[in-house]
Amino acid sequence: MLAHRTLLIKRPLRTFTNEEREALVKVLTRADALGNLWARGFEVWPIGLDSRFADKFNYFKSELRLVNVKRWLARVHAIFNVGVRLDNERDMGQGVFIDLTRNALRLRWVIKRRAIVISLTESEAKYIRDRLSEGGKPKLARAWVDDEHLFIAITFERDAEQITPSNYRLVIDVNSWKNGIVYAIVKDSTRNLERLYNHVTKLERKYGALRRLGLHKTPYGRRLWREIKATKRRLYAYLRDYAQKAVSILVKQALNLRAKVIIDDIIEESRRELMEEKPLNGLAKVYMLYLRRFVKLLTNQLRWYGIPYEFKRLPSTTCPICGSELTQLPGRIMICSKCGFKADRDLVPILWAIKQP
Ligand SMILES: [Zn+2]
Repeated sequence: MLAHRTLLIKRPLRTFTNEEREALVKVLTRADALGNLWARGFEVWPIGLDSRFADKFNYFKSELRLVNVKRWLARVHAIFNVGVRLDNERDMGQGVFIDLTRNALRLRWVIKRRAIVISLTESEAKYIRDRLSEGGKPKLARAWVDDEHLFIAITFERDAEQITPSNYRLVIDVNSWKNGIVYAIVKDSTRNLERLYNHVTKLERKYGALRRLGLHKTPYGRRLWREIKATKRRLYAYLRDYAQKAVSILVKQALNLRAKVIIDDIIEESRRELMEEKPLNGLAKVYMLYLRRFVKLLTNQLRWYGIPYEFKRLPSTTCPICGSELTQLPGRIMICSKCGFKADRDLVPILWAIKQP
């Protein structure tokens, strides 16, 4: 999957010599105006403007959608190819040449037979180095001017292989920007757990049938019994492991951020919720048992590291905007019929948490 990131370099026009400033304004303004014609498919080769502008425009035209569609349609900027020197690569005369050995950028085609040299700041040079070290390639540059500034946007391209996601989901809520960015890390563990639990239930049913027939002491019956015990051990080991890993991740996060930890005190509510989910009744009991152990493990470690924490009841069925009762839609989506608030059920308590002083 091709991905793009763009570095925007901005310099006041007054920092250039008179010749450079006049050329920048004249050439880049003209390229902008002609870009609109080029974008509509006209073949215009303007006199006095470096022909490579039209060349590059035609070359990159089809790919520009990747850069920014809306801005692209609003205004068309001069396009340059880009070369980079990290060590001793040759300058091939690209429209924009970035020399990282001198932290300098050479902008060509604006003034005949010479480049306008722009010094890069440390952070601009670092940005470029970082993108290159991540496997990014400089794709193209665009340059334009407004009344006071020269802008050069350098776009890097990377063929990113998507990582195989773990069981974690990072849920980001963008509805409540005014409260800051709200996010939650959720681990989806229940599938494996349900599989193990269903397996135990099936085996127990079989064993029950044997027992009613008085056959549970047979070799087959004994083997079945051993398998039930082994699967239960695996189920509990999985839960223990899950709780420990989750605690260690959460404690590490809290330490890194020097965060105060707020624990949603919903034991009673979630107990009721779990008990209401009929097909999982037995599993619900298992969850409840481990929820308590999990909280104990968590608070133990928080105390150990001196991380402050407190329990707060954070409702998941009350609207955090207007306080009305929320209705649950399929997929654990909660909706408020009064104010229209809508969010993932797991996020509602978090939205309540950020409203706390
Ligand atoms: Zn509401």
